[in-house]
Amino acid sequence: MEIINRRKRMMSVARRLRREENRSIGFVPTMGALHQGHLSLIHEARALCDVVVVSVFVNPAQFGPSEDFNAYPRDLTRDSALLAEYNVDYVFAPTVEEIYPPGFSTYVAVDVLTDKLEGSSRPGHFRGVATVVAILLNIVRPNFAFFGQKDAQQSIVIKRMVGDLGFDIEIVVLPIVREESGLALSSRNAYLDERERQAATVLNRALMKARAAYNEGEHNASRLLEIVRSTVAKEPLARIDYVAINDAETLAEIDRVDDRAALLSLAVFIGKTRLIDNAVLGRAEKQVGANA
Ligand code: AMP
Repeated sequence: MEIINRRKRMMSVARRLRREENRSIGFVPTMGALHQGHLSLIHEARALCDVVVVSVFVNPAQFGPSEDFNAYPRDLTRDSALLAEYNVDYVFAPTVEEIYPPGFSTYVAVDVLTDKLEGSSRPGHFRGVATVVAILLNIVRPNFAFFGQKDAQQSIVIKRMVGDLGFDIEIVVLPIVREESGLALSSRNAYLDERERQAATVLNRALMKARAAYNEGEHNASRLLEIVRSTVAKEPLARIDYVAINDAETLAEIDRVDDRAALLSLAVFIGKTRLIDNAVLGRAEKQVGANA
């Protein structure tokens, strides 16, 4: 496994793999502090592609001024050891200056899809995400890029960007990996103390309650949202940022969950830590997550 810090080196390696060796490249972008959620993406990339490239880059452009960019967990030594165990071929771990050199002034804005949910709670977040993913995709030029359903809106935004800008790359979206407690794995779980970790299980519990109600015939979006809100409200350490139901593909607001798949998503503060989670309801449930 080679660890690459320079974009020029990464580009020339990728070019050689594609052109001279005709090998397919699978790419998994991450911010490091790796867990089984990331590793599930890498596992799939390994199964589908000849060569696996994983990027580890905490992207300043996607953090707001009062967010946790500085505190975000970083441990490239541990991450590299894990990635070597998972037979990753290349780790791309650039510095901030390598991605955003002096004079950097080009950004990617994906409209409409980014107005709501994470986009409205975290202004500028998706501009940072779309920009860095566009840069990374151009450097690595993979055949396949792998993303998690954990960040459902992010996956939708990236698919839109790749389609709109004509990137010749297939986006693969994979299911959320959870702890036994139901808590979705996240690098930010590292911020939680014991009590908060227990409290954080309320996100998935609330989603499961709504899913059970949906399965029993409750298709009214406001009532499903109310089930989620009242469940989270019972947890004293939790404070809701948003709970929403949207069309799972277009993110349009919906009043009823009917024929089309619906994304039930929420963001909740547990103490100072902001966590997100989601579930897909509706008939097309099984298709969401698969590449369109
Ligand atoms: P991050 O390092 O948080 O930027 O995440 C990198 C990729 O891993 C993103 O595509 C995430 O959606 C995905 N990911 C993060 N947590 C999980 C999880 N629990 N299950 C599946 N994928 C995940």
